[in-house]
Amino acid sequence: MKPTYSFIVPVFNEEATLPELYRRLSAVMDCMDGPVEVVMVDDGSHDRSLALMRDLHDRDHRICYLSFTRNFGHQIAVTAGLNFVRGQAIVVLDADLQDPPELIPTLAEKWRRGYDVIYAQRVQRHREGWFKRLTAYVFYRLLRQLADVDIPLDTGDFCLMDRRVVDTLNAMPERNRYIRGLRSWLGFRQIAIPFERDSRFAGDVKYTFRKSLALAIDGLVSFSKVPLRISTYVGLLAAVMAIVMAILVVYWRFFSPVSPLTGYATIAVAIFFLGAVQLFSIGILGEYIGRIYEEVKNRPAYVLGEVNGFETANARPNV
Ligand code: UDP
Ligand code: MG
Repeated sequence: MKPTYSFIVPVFNEEATLPELYRRLSAVMDCMDGPVEVVMVDDGSHDRSLALMRDLHDRDHRICYLSFTRNFGHQIAVTAGLNFVRGQAIVVLDADLQDPPELIPTLAEKWRRGYDVIYAQRVQRHREGWFKRLTAYVFYRLLRQLADVDIPLDTGDFCLMDRRVVDTLNAMPERNRYIRGLRSWLGFRQIAIPFERDSRFAGDVKYTFRKSLALAIDGLVSFSKVPLRISTYVGLLAAVMAIVMAILVVYWRFFSPVSPLTGYATIAVAIFFLGAVQLFSIGILGEYIGRIYEEVKNRPAYVLGEVNGFETANARPNV
């Protein structure tokens, strides 16, 4: 029997949270109004996560899993899950229980009412560190200013999507996937559900600062061309400054008894300033060109190790 609901859970070194995740998820699965499958995607964990996933699958055939041959990143793990799910309503949630599974029935209820994308929007995240909160706050507002599409504030990947939305996402060939942005870009009938983001149940954050920064740059570069324009504007500004300086220099040379333009400090500052502007512009350009390069190489987005649970239509009706 084909599942109605599919839950996608990306997993990277989550051995400490998986048992509790299963406990809470199975309670939710039992109260859904249709058969459920859970697709866990092991993103190259080096701990016992994959072994735990095998055990869970043996115990409960509603749990299916995929594993990657190495760490490909969270967004790619979710992408793989989206490629494999068979349900009509697809939920994406983190393994660390920061996205409360108990909210899923509320999301499902909106889906029953005809919404295509129901995304959970954080109203509070006071259980996370100040640095994470500050950077996330600034980033989402910056992205909103710069992006070509209306990406709602403070939303992560926790959401429910209709089959049509997932099929459309799967048909998008781009490798660089900022899923919460692509989801907004698609349109459809979308609605936000406010929720309070809990703190991580156990273990350390798997999104290091470097990974978060990379995700933020991906989001900006994939959804905005404004950074490219910044170099044009800074270039124009530098040109205006140069013209003003030239006029002043001529004035001082011919009409002023003393010239304030002496010494090499001025020249040094000007050279460093222009050098910085040029490197910055090349860097921005590089971000875009690097992405073009990634896309034209046309490598697969991920490489699968183990795939289990998808051979049969194994989701049990929960009666
Ligand atoms: N994750 C992943 N691959 C990675 C990093 C994280 O699949 O390279 C998963 C992780 O197991 C968790 C989710 O992505 O289920 C969110 O990660 P985390 O809780 O560390 O990040 P944050 O809460 O800061 O978004
Ligand atoms: Mg987390």
